[in-house]
Amino acid sequence: MPGAELKHTILVIEDELQIRRFLRATLLAHGYRCLEATTGEDGLRLASSQQPDVVILDLGLPDIDGLEVARRLREWASTPIIILSARGQETDKIAALDTGADDYLTKPFGVGELLARLRVALRHQQPLTTEQNNPIFQLGALHVDLALRQVRVDDHEVHLTPIEYKMLTTLIHHAGKVVTHQQLLRAVWGPNYTTETAYLRVYMGQLRHKLEADATRPRYLITEPGVGYRLRLET
Ligand code: CA
Repeated sequence: MPGAELKHTILVIEDELQIRRFLRATLLAHGYRCLEATTGEDGLRLASSQQPDVVILDLGLPDIDGLEVARRLREWASTPIIILSARGQETDKIAALDTGADDYLTKPFGVGELLARLRVALRHQQPLTTEQNNPIFQLGALHVDLALRQVRVDDHEVHLTPIEYKMLTTLIHHAGKVVTHQQLLRAVWGPNYTTETAYLRVYMGQLRHKLEADATRPRYLITEPGVGYRLRLET
């Protein structure tokens, strides 16, 4: 068990008492320290004075928009942000992800889902691209050598087109987190192609055929309906 000084601090910015209670109980029970704010302004103040490890941010706040909170936080902090959204806030959710939020949970969500998102957020405080000494990405049968640009599945080398490879490495750099359609299009095709979501479906289909045991039931390359894709770390 880690000592108290190693506990990660999670800042919850949420006005709904019930959800705050649920988050607090879950976080404390799993060894996290929990800070709470009920407004966007309070949340921003706490984020700057307490330097939390992760921010859990509700989009519907009584004072300023959660989207605006994410934008302002990103001006000076790279702290992982997990958005809480309600059904009907899909546009805001995607805008928040494109603004720099890292992931999202749709209400109602369960304990398992919350903890999985937190683990990913904490693991990725250091992005993979800065790990110069380890260019190998390994996930189940999938093995990617980012230095040699080699992809293997079960020890068989797989040949990817440049576009397929770029798609895969973009997802690897955000492994475990959702990557929005717009982020993926921008990374692979460039800023003039951010509405061409049909490209993604075509190339994702090809990637799945090459990398997944069953392309119709992917284990790694997961579709997040209406939002984007996720390279799933926990299968
Ligand atoms: Ca709310």
